[in-house]
Order: sequence, then C-alpha cells, then structure tokens
Amino acid sequence: MPFYQSSRKLNKPSGYLNVTVSLDTSGKYLASILTEIEGENPAVSTEGKVIGIDLGLTHFAITSDGSKVSKYDNPRYLTKHEKNLKRQQQKLAKKQKGSNSRNQAKKLVAKVYERVSKSRQDFLQHKLSRKLVNENQVVVVENLNVKGMVRNHNLAKAISDVGWGTFTNFLAYKLEIKGGKLVEIDRWFPSSKLCSNCDYQADKLPLDVREWTCPNCGTRHDRDGNAATNIRNEGIRMLQTDGTAVSEERRGSKTKAWTQVRSEAFPHDVRSPHYNRFDLVWVVHTC
Ligand SMILES: [Zn+2]
Repeated sequence: MPFYQSSRKLNKPSGYLNVTVSLDTSGKYLASILTEIEGENPAVSTEGKVIGIDLGLTHFAITSDGSKVSKYDNPRYLTKHEKNLKRQQQKLAKKQKGSNSRNQAKKLVAKVYERVSKSRQDFLQHKLSRKLVNENQVVVVENLNVKGMVRNHNLAKAISDVGWGTFTNFLAYKLEIKGGKLVEIDRWFPSSKLCSNCDYQADKLPLDVREWTCPNCGTRHDRDGNAATNIRNEGIRMLQTDGTAVSEERRGSKTKAWTQVRSEAFPHDVRSPHYNRFDLVWVVHTC
C-alpha cells in the first residue's frame, strides 16, 4: 500500500509502540502510529510573554497580550470549501434511498468534509498554534470541557467544527517541546462578565451584547477582548499563587481577581487528559 500523505515526519523515533489501522467514511485507510521520540524536552520556564486566548464562535480565537487584542477568523478558502460541502450535501438529500447514486454522493460528501476539516486544522490549529507558541512563553486558555458542551448544547455542531479541543492539544505539545507552559483556567471563571480594568463583575451579559461599559469605572469593553484579557490575568494570578516566577504583570486589574472558590480543583497542569503528543497519522490510498 503506497503512502499518500504523512501529517508529521517522524523525528528519529526510538521505538514504535503501536499501529492502529482504520477505514474512514470517504474510503481511506488511516494508520495511527504511536511512537516514542528520543531526547528530553527543555525545563519549563514561565519567564517571558504571556498571552490569553478566548475561544469563540463569532471568531475562532481572540488573543490578548495585556495591551493588544487580536482576532483570528476562518480564512476565505475555508469558507469556499464549506460552501461546496453544503452544495454536495443538498445533492445527496435529493438522491433516492438505497440507490447507487446516493452511495456515490455520500462518498463525495465525506471527501469534501475531510477536505474542509483538513484545511481548518492546517490553518487554525497548526499555523495559529505555531505562531502563538513562537511568540509567547505562557499561553492561557479556558478549560472548556468541549465534550460536555457538545453533548448538552444546541451549538454542538459549531463547537465540534471549530475544533477547540484539538487546538488546545496542539498548543500543549508545542509548548512542551519549547519549555513553555499551557495554563488552563477553570471553565466557570466569569471571563466575559468581569471588568478587566477594575474587577467589577456584571450579573448578566447576554451573548448578543458585544460591547459594554463598566458601571463601576466607566471603561468601554469589547466583549471578546475583555474576556481574553481576563483569561490572561487569571492565568498569571494562578501561576503566582502556585509560587511560579512570572515576568509579566497582570494588566489593568487593581484588585485581586475572581475569588469565588469552587469545589473542583483548578485543572491547569499541562498534561491535561486530552493531551497526547505522540499521535501520528498517515493517510493511505485504498485503491
Ligand atoms: Zn470597571
């Protein structure tokens, strides 16, 4: 069977632990190869730039370095692939059940879907995570419990499609190789409702409110940028509480941030359950 594409090159693997072969819906075989890589990662250092990321639905990611907010969206070519996917899905819906042409249309939809997922993964996950890890030593994200949200929420499709979980995985292993740190903050942390300037906490902030003014200090907030700044601040506070040296300061906040204590511990270790740096995937032609 000839190799069709490798998603990652093997860097001097010292041993192969396991190979799993599976067949996907578009008729391709996938071989997942679990391997160990020689060499040790550098010691973790949190001395350097800290960035907070708010993962959203209107934008894929909003980042804050404390003073500057950046927003990252789906690239245009991705929208083009997605339109094609919709077209093929509509064609499929018109085919008669059990017919040959329906089966073929099904395979085509699976192929286009795969192309969409790969483009999204390549742009948002590989390129964006690489850029953020190159530019920062500490990356702070919310622990979103994506699985729980996908099960319980009507935004399930949008959430699965944007691939937050995979994005966090990419950040984690890239940071580990660099000796940086991924900090995951409690998913109940009210990142949107806190004022990043004075720590006033709003009671409610419905999803359609994109901008708001803090009634305590009068600061005008962009909803997402404010949330990203709060996430960054909370990450720095957690590192400092742990006694970890952090060279960057929290910005804006004058008082101690969120003090509400929940029964669950803050899950912020870099080795979160969805973390797996050794998973390598090959796509192989079937015929
Ligand atoms: Zn305020």
